[in-house]
Amino acid sequence: MAPLIPISNHKKTKIIATVGPACSSKENLLSLVKAGVNVFRLNFSHSSHDVHKEVIDNILEINEKYQVHIGILADLQGPKLRIGKMENDGMQIKPGDILTFTNKECLGNMDHIYMSYELFPTDVEVGERVMVDDGKIVLDVIETNKKNKVKLKVLYGEFLSSNKGVNLPDTIISQPSLTEKDLEDLDFILTQRVNWIALSFVRQGKDITDLQRRIKAKDHFAKVIAKIEKPEAIKNLKSIIKATDAIMIARGDLGVELPMQELPGLQKMIIAKCIEKSKPVIVATQMMESMITNPSPTRAEVTDVANAVLDGADAVMLSAETSVGKHPVLVVEAMNKIISHAETQYEMHGKRSKPDPTSSTYLSDVLCLNAPKIAEEISAKAILGLTVNGYTAFKISSYRPNCKIYIFSDKAYMLSTLSLVWGVSPYLYTKFTTTDETIEDLNNILKDEGEISEGDIVVNTGSMPLHKRFRTNMLKITVVE
Ligand code: PGA
Repeated sequence: MAPLIPISNHKKTKIIATVGPACSSKENLLSLVKAGVNVFRLNFSHSSHDVHKEVIDNILEINEKYQVHIGILADLQGPKLRIGKMENDGMQIKPGDILTFTNKECLGNMDHIYMSYELFPTDVEVGERVMVDDGKIVLDVIETNKKNKVKLKVLYGEFLSSNKGVNLPDTIISQPSLTEKDLEDLDFILTQRVNWIALSFVRQGKDITDLQRRIKAKDHFAKVIAKIEKPEAIKNLKSIIKATDAIMIARGDLGVELPMQELPGLQKMIIAKCIEKSKPVIVATQMMESMITNPSPTRAEVTDVANAVLDGADAVMLSAETSVGKHPVLVVEAMNKIISHAETQYEMHGKRSKPDPTSSTYLSDVLCLNAPKIAEEISAKAILGLTVNGYTAFKISSYRPNCKIYIFSDKAYMLSTLSLVWGVSPYLYTKFTTTDETIEDLNNILKDEGEISEGDIVVNTGSMPLHKRFRTNMLKITVVE
């Protein structure tokens, strides 16, 4: 069934908007959906569970009332490190100054400054760098007593103020990826109809499998997003991509932990690797930053969003722009326009990856690879896929067909999960009779909605016999009557 509201849903690259006070009411969320949002992100670094619950209920109500499939992404804070409160809210510093970080709470000054990570003195080694306030301050570790005190020399920086974030790009951190706060948040999240759970500061594939195990233990179907924001994650990228369901390029922290000039190349490399492995990939942070206050983006921001589209990202993400910004709807409208135009120039880079003959999904994968190839050969208007668990949608999307992809399923929850995935227009379809009848029915539904017209060629994928719910094993070319 088609959405009951006019929405800008014809773009292939999806928009994720972070929810916050600027947009959390039902009316505001609805306006953002109309403007083109596909997935809402709840940032568990902020807000209480009650506030998140209200937002989740609002989104589910919109989905139900307007027949849309907006996804919900819960973003866990992870081991975000901070310094504590400072006397007078901060102090001047200069290169050469010596600071002392301690893991005992205190009001910060030139003698001692509280840093929230208990194991910092044990984990850190002399000569490692410590970055504070998004890299505006760079410190060099000159001494640690391996217990409660670390001496650092200021290499760079002017003013150290209260509660600023700390990054440890060189340090092997021994605490687990899921903090106590994350585990409490996870307990709440797993009682909710959340589609995606993002894990911050992922370091290795094991971080992801640990989270997946916890999700499964609660019989929940949420999929996992690995946030790439540490040099260690870049080193272990292969195993992380293998383990995870999707990737977020968290450029904010990544650009602090690694030299900022490496970001554009890393973005392209990570996107290409994710597409190759059929894992959705999100480009996040500062995409439309100036629109937190201004009604239109800078030319550099327009170019950044367009470049993410041209790199082939599945989704682009808004953070403060929609959560606390002055113009949440304008920013989504602007992003939608940039995406739609950039997509007219998008072509998949490189070759479509060859299915692995040793994989248990090999036969189905070969079919999914060939659907876009055939569609291109015969100038098909669309690929129509039927799916039970979403696998076909992830796969067909990753081959980046140059026509539309309509995915039909009787699982509303799974369709909302697919809202994050490049090019997928999710449709609820509950009838499922015979393969012949169903295909005719789906083609008619899209025809009635004006998505396809008489004479158009479409490629249908599905599984035969339908009631056995096998993986995709059938491909059919249809001329719409
Ligand atoms: P955050 O992650 O919003 O959780 O900080 C994004 C980033 O670091 O880019």
